[in-house]
Amino acid sequence: MATKHELLSDAAQRALRYLDDLDSRAVYPDDHAIRQLAELRKPLPDDPQPPAETLELLDRVGSPATVASTGGRYFGFVIGSSLPVTVAANWLAAAWGQNAGMRASSPISATLEDVALTWLVDLLGLPKGTGGGFVTGATMANFTALAAARRTLLLRAGWDGEEQGLFDAPPLRVVVGEEAHVSVLKAVAMLGLGRGRVLRVPVDGQGRIQPDAMPPLDDRTIVCLQAGNVNTGAFDPATDICPAAKQAGAWVHVDGAFGLWAAASPRHAHLMHGYADADSWATDAHKWLNVPYDSGLVFCRNAEHLRGAMAMSAAYLVTDQQREPSHFTPELSRRSRGVEVWAALRTLGRRGIADMIDRHIRHAQRFAEGLRHAGFDVLNDVALNQVLVSFGDDRTTRQVIAEVQREGTCWCGGTQWRGRAAMRISVSSWSTTEADVERSLDAMLRAARNVCDQSSSQADAYSF
Ligand SMILES: *Cc1c(COP(=O)(O)O)cnc(C)c1O
Repeated sequence: MATKHELLSDAAQRALRYLDDLDSRAVYPDDHAIRQLAELRKPLPDDPQPPAETLELLDRVGSPATVASTGGRYFGFVIGSSLPVTVAANWLAAAWGQNAGMRASSPISATLEDVALTWLVDLLGLPKGTGGGFVTGATMANFTALAAARRTLLLRAGWDGEEQGLFDAPPLRVVVGEEAHVSVLKAVAMLGLGRGRVLRVPVDGQGRIQPDAMPPLDDRTIVCLQAGNVNTGAFDPATDICPAAKQAGAWVHVDGAFGLWAAASPRHAHLMHGYADADSWATDAHKWLNVPYDSGLVFCRNAEHLRGAMAMSAAYLVTDQQREPSHFTPELSRRSRGVEVWAALRTLGRRGIADMIDRHIRHAQRFAEGLRHAGFDVLNDVALNQVLVSFGDDRTTRQVIAEVQREGTCWCGGTQWRGRAAMRISVSSWSTTEADVERSLDAMLRAARNVCDQSSSQADAYSF
């Protein structure tokens, strides 16, 4: 039987081999690798099996069936990679096996969260004293922040929703842009605020809320702004909306799953202008900060609003001297997400983070320039890390996307923008180099040529 030394060393060797091979494999697993997964569909063994065999099977069958999203040429779905130091920190933290829910169950986890939160509030330009929690992703961060909003507005109306429930509560209204991310609507639904009751405000050509289309606001309204549209990367105009919302006593929540990180770059912080006036913010660390899944962050201007909504019971009021992690998240027991967030921030530093953001935006602009130069339509203003491109009519665009994905040099997904099919390029991996961008651009243009050649030869065939 392998000792723990042999087993963990073997895992490290296999992981390194996996990472070394990323550059030379197709980004998406091939059909053979997917078919091999059948080998895992076995009955539960009756007897113990050698752990080394378990690991061998996982690597042999599992590794080839992964999507190489931690490599430099994956541009789908705004998926970050994992900085090597965050993987290493994650391994160490897994060995620690801490329950990060309570200070008493892990002083180190609680301390790293304290430190990382202080750094993040500063880095992201949020108001001093902002409180936060470490959740699974931006969906849960949206949920958690909106729970704090719901509680706070209802309390102001004389209703304790946590105690009394929502059935006879004064109604709250949620206002979002027509381009709000689906996760905001899911959070609204989970919170009993009613997806169907949400007021959707018209947006402009980049997906930004049109401020003059905003309804009158009041102190029973939650306004959800978006910092970084998942298609265009555009930001809702916070400077136009936040002051009026504040004056009316409304709550402003920001979904900034990746866009919030623009604040960490002096060159691009202007995109986040006015957002510090909001009441709560949601973001991901597993996207632009490049830490392993799953890792999201929720922030609330008034930490007590977040704690009021998330603490287990009113008892916290007497006991808390220090920040108790589980009083700021829906979960009690959970892993030490703060370890990797801290490790990324500590290692990159202020300048390293800004450089990464700036580099990705430069890469996105290079994609846009190359595609435009080849005669294709870039459908968005490339101010952030997102590029939308059309290769002609919708059918052609979809064929080019399929060809790019099949060919394997890089991977991009498809989307629909203002009624047109588009290929979406999201640059968010620390490991993407200029060479990766050029190689991927070549592959995209080659795919587009192949599709066009095929359709013109078909057209020739029809003309006979
Ligand atoms: C990715 C994303 C989300 C959801 O984040 P998860 O981490 O997948 O839960 C929400 N909003 C925006 C704008 C996003 O890009």
